[in-house]
Amino acid sequence: MIPPGKTLGILGGGQLGRMLAQAAQTLGYRVHVFEPAGPCPAGAVANHEVNANYEDTAALTAFARECAVVTYEFENIPSGPLAVVAPLVPLHPRAEVLHITQNRQREKAWLRAHGIPHARYAEALDGDIAPAVAEVGLPCVVKTADFGYDGKGQMKLADAADVERAAAIFRGRRCVVESWVEFACEVSVIVARSAGGEARAFPVAENIHTHHILDFSIVPARVDAAVARTAGQLALAIADQLGVVGLIAVEMFATTAGEVLVNELAPRPHNSGHWSIDGCETSQFEQHVRAVCGLPLGGVAVREPTVMVNILGDAWFAGDVRREPNWGVILAEPRARLHLYGKAEPRPGRKMGHFTVRAATVEAALARARELKAKL
Ligand code: AMP
Repeated sequence: MIPPGKTLGILGGGQLGRMLAQAAQTLGYRVHVFEPAGPCPAGAVANHEVNANYEDTAALTAFARECAVVTYEFENIPSGPLAVVAPLVPLHPRAEVLHITQNRQREKAWLRAHGIPHARYAEALDGDIAPAVAEVGLPCVVKTADFGYDGKGQMKLADAADVERAAAIFRGRRCVVESWVEFACEVSVIVARSAGGEARAFPVAENIHTHHILDFSIVPARVDAAVARTAGQLALAIADQLGVVGLIAVEMFATTAGEVLVNELAPRPHNSGHWSIDGCETSQFEQHVRAVCGLPLGGVAVREPTVMVNILGDAWFAGDVRREPNWGVILAEPRARLHLYGKAEPRPGRKMGHFTVRAATVEAALARARELKAKL
C-alpha cells in the first residue's frame, strides 16, 4: 500500500489529471504532474508541475524518482520512453495496457483474441482501405489506428464514391475499417481494479454524442437489465484479462438487435464517468487513486439519478461574438453542480468543463439538464 502523504505522479495535465489530482489531495497525497505544454489544468492544482516532452527520458526518470507511484490520464504517450518509469516506480495501469489500447489495430486484435464481442472489422494494410472495405461491407467507418479520439481521424462510408474519397484521404495511414453499427444507444462502464484483483464496476452510463464528442452521460442508463448486466460483465472481464490496476473505461454499443459490442477501451478516468463526482458514493477519480495506491476500493452505488453535460468552447460564442456563458443558470439550480477546468482559451469543440444535474428520476434530470444547457 502507498499511504497518504506519498507522491502520486500523473503523466498528462488535462482536465482528467486535474480532477484526479484534486481527489488524490483530498486523500492526503502529494501530486506531481508531467505535461509537455505548460501551464496546464492539472498543474494548476498540483504540488509540482514538470514541463518536458514525453520523449525526454532524463526528465521522465527524474520525475519518476520523486514519485511513489505513477499513472497517466492521457493515452497517447509514446510507450517507448515510458519504459524508463516502470523499473523505478510502479506504473499503473502497466505499460502493456497502454500499448494495446493506444492503437486501434492492437486493441481490436486483443478483443478478437479474447473473444470479446465487437463490431466486425478488417485492418487496412499498406494504407489501402479498399480490400478492407470489401471484406467488411458498406456502410462502414474508417478509423486511423493511432492518435484518434472524439471522432478525429474517422470517416463514415456509405457508397462507392465515399470509398474512393476515403482511399485518397487515408492512403499510407494505418487504419481499421469497421462495420457500421445500428445502435439503440451507446453505453460505457468504468471498472476499477486493484493489484490484489479486487474489482468494482461503476453503474452503466448511457452516452449521447454530438459530432462524435460526448454531450450527455445519463446514469442509470435507460437500458434493459440484461443489457446492463452484460455491459458490466464485459467490462469486468476486460479489466481482469488485461490485468489493469487502476481504471479502465469500456465504451460499448447496445445494438437494436439486443447485443452489446465493445467499441473502445481507455485505461484511465473517462469523460463518461464525470457524473460520479456528484452522483456516486465514490468518484471515478478517487477510485483510481485508491486502486493505484492499493487502498480498499470505495462503494459504487448511484446516490441519485444524475446527468452530466459537457461544456465545450462553443458555449463562449454566439455567432462570431465571444461572450461569457451564463453560469448563473447553473449556479442558481440547487441540484446542479458546475465544474470548470481552468482553461484560458475557449475553442469550438474544446472541453472546458461540465455540469451535472441530479433528480428523483433520470427523465427529470435529463429534461432539466437540456433546459440548463439551452440557457447557458
Ligand atoms: P470512437 O472514436 O471509436 O469512440 O467513435 C466516436 C463515435 O463515433 C462513437 O461514439 C459513435 O457515436 C460513432 N461510431 C464509431 N464507430 C461506429 C460504428 N462502427 N458504428 C456506428 N457508430 C460509430
